[in-house]
Amino acid sequence: MSEFELIRKYFSHTVEERTDVVLGVGDDCALLQPPQGCQLAVSIDTLVEGVHFFPDIDPFLLGHKALAVNLSDLAAMGARPAWVTLALALPDSDPRWLQGFSQGFAALAHIHNVQLVGGDTTRGPLTITAQVHGFIEPEKALRRDAASVDDLVYVTGTLGDAGLALRMIQGSVSADDYLPSLRDRLERPQPRIAEGLAVKGLARGGIDISDGLISDLGHICRASDLGAKLFLDQVPLSEGVGRYINQGGDWGVPLASGDDYELCLTVPAENKDEFEARMQDTGIPFTLVGTMEQELGIRCQLPGGGLLDPLPGGYEHFSHE
Ligand code: ADP
Ligand code: MG
Repeated sequence: MSEFELIRKYFSHTVEERTDVVLGVGDDCALLQPPQGCQLAVSIDTLVEGVHFFPDIDPFLLGHKALAVNLSDLAAMGARPAWVTLALALPDSDPRWLQGFSQGFAALAHIHNVQLVGGDTTRGPLTITAQVHGFIEPEKALRRDAASVDDLVYVTGTLGDAGLALRMIQGSVSADDYLPSLRDRLERPQPRIAEGLAVKGLARGGIDISDGLISDLGHICRASDLGAKLFLDQVPLSEGVGRYINQGGDWGVPLASGDDYELCLTVPAENKDEFEARMQDTGIPFTLVGTMEQELGIRCQLPGGGLLDPLPGGYEHFSHE
């Protein structure tokens, strides 16, 4: 199959046909019409075989995840997704792989009304780069530098599920009956788009938790020149991670492992009721886990009192050099 056949077969017939796409896949550039008065929110993420996913991953799940991790960044700004471009380096043109990958990608794109408008296809070690584009009204973005002292810190969903699944798969924690549900959270993250949109204008600071709560809340703290206090008995845990922690497991799992793709939001106390009402409407669980403080750094209060010390660190690609 030639490069052009491959693109035509798997990446030209997208389900979405947005009216703001003047010209989609097929020419030198896509032509796109952003809505009047909106800013463009743009984000790019790369997934590399052996670094971000196992070589034997189901290609459908990989297609899903390649888009999900990007959409999660739009969610974290409170942006509405619109378009995506996709750059693929492929070792070969395996039709089974391409079919699965393109279907997983398209299925999630359909859910969020995102249109694939272009990309690039080359031969090379399996590497997937997607860039998403979304819209946001000026001054409405949930920025990392926007938190204020005494803001309430909320997270969506439960934390550490993907991290515990990874440890079970890799064998450092023995696998148990929770593995299938935890594994689903690792392989099929759901970008919190509706939640980001719902609380835009009510929350101030925002980030998606891709490298663990400590690390990602740490980004908000540094950008906002503040610190934070977290109450570990409030941190939302699934049954699987809850049991793991109750049996003396490592707090690094819910606090410092990657791939949660939940949102961490800071909310001024005066917006608490309205924020909680809007979050309630989304149907996704959300939890108040702490507050922003003047004192720099993050302090984690253990369920029995006392502080967790040292804090577990998040995943960092170049930390072992
Ligand atoms: P050029 O040589 O001008 O860069 P290409 O031959 O790389 O163009 O791509 C031809 C068309 O196919 C372009 O519109 C490009 O955006 C699109 N395309 C290439 N690869 C992909 C892909 N993986 N997904 C979606 N569109 C793609
Ligand atoms: Mg060209």
